[in-house]
Amino acid sequence: MDRYDPDRVMETLKEGNRRYVRSGAFSGDVSHTARVRAADEGQHPFAAVVSCSDSRVIPEAVFSAGIGDLFVIRSAGNIVDGCTLGSLEYAVGHMGVRVVVVMGHTCCGAIAEALKGLHEGHSIEIIDGIRACIGGERDPVEASRLNVLNSVRLISEDLSARHDIVVAGAIYDVRDGTVEFLEERFPSSSHERPGIGPRPLHSLALRAGTAIRPWLAWSRDGWASLTA
Ligand SMILES: [Zn+2]
Repeated sequence: MDRYDPDRVMETLKEGNRRYVRSGAFSGDVSHTARVRAADEGQHPFAAVVSCSDSRVIPEAVFSAGIGDLFVIRSAGNIVDGCTLGSLEYAVGHMGVRVVVVMGHTCCGAIAEALKGLHEGHSIEIIDGIRACIGGERDPVEASRLNVLNSVRLISEDLSARHDIVVAGAIYDVRDGTVEFLEERFPSSSHERPGIGPRPLHSLALRAGTAIRPWLAWSRDGWASLTA
């Protein structure tokens, strides 16, 4: 079976997270054998993860992944900039990755700073980007979701036009270890939030009357729920 098949990848990630939550241990393969094989044969990650730099979030551990399994890009607030997109272009264009997960998390310091309106130095690029996409939202977890969905949109609009990929949003709970793949959260146009970057949030295609989905992903054909 295709290692890069999106349905298979999503199930691998979900099962990896269940294993992590059950065991509380890092169960990815980081053995000498895996290390040597990856060195000799090159890397073949089955998914890319855009994650916050927060030290409580370890993407490989969260998904029980080992050496060579995940292509991880990290920044405070899991923001998407040119470096993020360039890194993803490499993963998708040169390594065959077809699933990109943007994973925010609970208790995110970057989100908290954005909600307080505090920033200094270079962090202004992070905080202002988050503030632009969360609008008037004051709840930290909802703000994290909005920030993740904005990153999903940016990646989708940039890469999905050129590559057959899916981009999924997720929130990691730093307390219980679970990963929630994002559902459609904004059921009516009256809840549309103003101002995600240069375009309004309704470009996320959050439509009225759409059923709750187990997770939402963007492919070249538009928003879709890939698993029942
Ligand atoms: Zn964070």
